[in-house]
Order: sequence, then C-alpha cells, then structure tokens
Amino acid sequence: MQVIRTIEQVRQALRPARQAGRRVGLVPTMGALHEGHWSLVDRARQTCAEVAVSIFVNPLQFGTGEDIDSYPQTEEHDLTGCAEHGCAWVFAPSPQEMYPDQVLTSVTVRRLSTPLCGRTRTGHFQGVATVVCKLLNIVLPDVAFFGEKDYQQLVVIRRMVRDLNMPVEIVGCPTVREPDGLAVSSRNAYLDADQRSRAVSISAALREAVDAVKQGAHDARRLIADAEQRITRAGPVDIEYVEVVDLDTLEAVETIDRPARMCVAAKFGRARLIDNLPLYVGGGAQ
Ligand code: AMP
Repeated sequence: MQVIRTIEQVRQALRPARQAGRRVGLVPTMGALHEGHWSLVDRARQTCAEVAVSIFVNPLQFGTGEDIDSYPQTEEHDLTGCAEHGCAWVFAPSPQEMYPDQVLTSVTVRRLSTPLCGRTRTGHFQGVATVVCKLLNIVLPDVAFFGEKDYQQLVVIRRMVRDLNMPVEIVGCPTVREPDGLAVSSRNAYLDADQRSRAVSISAALREAVDAVKQGAHDARRLIADAEQRITRAGPVDIEYVEVVDLDTLEAVETIDRPARMCVAAKFGRARLIDNLPLYVGGGAQ
C-alpha cells in the first residue's frame, strides 16, 4: 500500500491501473477510520480491482465554532486498517496541497444543500461538494463510495455528479451500527458514558418510526412528535431537527404514501450526531 501526499503523485500512481482498464474505486473520508468506513472499503474491494482511500479533514466544510480543531486524527491506526482491508493507495494531502490559494471556485448544489443540516451548517455542503469534486478530479475513479449515514451528503453528491456529467458512479452503502443501534461515527468519541447510553435513543426513535409506518402510520407530523418525545425522554439533549423528507428532493413529506426518509440531528454535549432510516409504506419489498 502506498501513502501519497501530493496530487501529482496520486495522478502518477493511478495512471497505470486506469490505462490497464482496471476498475478504480475511491472512498473519501476525513480519517479516524472505523467500522463504517471499513464497510465502504470492503464494498469497494468487492467490485473494484484497485481501491484508494482519501483522508482529508476538509476545512471548507467546517463552520466557525465547529470542531475542526478537535476532530479526531488517528493516522497510524487509519493506515494500518487501510492496509489490512486491502487498499492499494491512501491519499492523505495537507490543506496546503488541496488549497494552495484562496478558493475562488466552488460547487453549490442548490436546494439540496439548504434543508436539514444545511439550515444550521451554512456553507457545509458547498464545502463538501467542492472537496469531493476536487477529489474525483484528482483520483479519477470509476466509482466512489459514500455512506447512507450522511444521507443528505449522498443526495448532494449524486446530484452534483449528474448535473456536471462527471464520469463516475456513486454507490451508497448502508449505515453500520453498534450492537445497540447507535450509528458508528468518529464523533461518538466525544460522548461520555452517560451521553453514550442516551445517544442510542436516536436510532431507537428511528426504528420505532419505521415500525409505526409498517403498521400503517402515515402522518409525518405525528411520527416526528413521537420520535422527538422518544429522544428527549432519554434525558438532556439538544434536538436540532427530526424530519421526514422525500428520498430525492429532501423536501418535507406530510403523508407517508411513498418511500420517505426520517432524518435526525441531535447534540449530546458537544457531540452533534446525525442518523436516518428509510420509511417504507406497509413494510413491503424495498
Ligand atoms: P467521514 O470520515 O465522517 O467524512 O465519512 C466518510 C464516509 O464514511 C462518508 O461517506 C460517510 O457517510 C461514511 N460513513 C461514516 N460513518 C458511517 C457508518 N456508520 N456507516 C456507513 N458509512 C459511514
């Protein structure tokens, strides 16, 4: 496995694989790699001859007062894991390498960037779309893998690729969870023991909503109120949003008469956690 720090070197390193027609997969990450990330890498390995992981804590997607300075960095652990999971390359550039000059060009996926997390994280999805666009242009993979855990991000990236005719396939992968249901996240490291035990209320509330819809519930407002109650019942929490949205447009859905997604963001202490699950009408085939 090769660890590469510069754009020039990563282009050079991947050229032979591309020229030989070997399918290249990219897994973009911010490091602090965990089971969620490994599931993307393993999925990539199943369908690609060569897998690259990028590790870059992208300053463009963090707002003022957010956790960029304390974001966990575990490079040695990350590199060992990448080697164990069969990655051919890790691209881990510095901020200076990615943004040598003031950024004058950025990618805005309008409408999809403003609801849900976009409401409080102004500019976040512009930062995400811009860095992913850069990474895709640098690595030129055939396929890139993203987690459904960050559902809005996945929808934004899919749309960017479609609107800009970028020659890459985007694959969404299911959320990996702890045994009690909590979505695995690098930010779970911020939780103390008490917050950790209460944080499970997010996934529990989502599961209850899924079950309720299977049983015939269809009023989104009612489902949201129940989920909020389930989360607050667990103890102190700052719920940012609980919403039921259309799978593609991310617009609020009032009646669950077609597949929709319940999305949650809530803060336990300084850990801002997000999670989501699909709500399928009648529990039929998905
Ligand atoms: P991050 O390093 O948090 O930017 O995440 C990198 C990629 O891993 C993104 O596509 C995330 O959606 C994905 N990811 C993070 N956590 C999980 C998880 N628990 N299950 C599946 N994918 C995940």
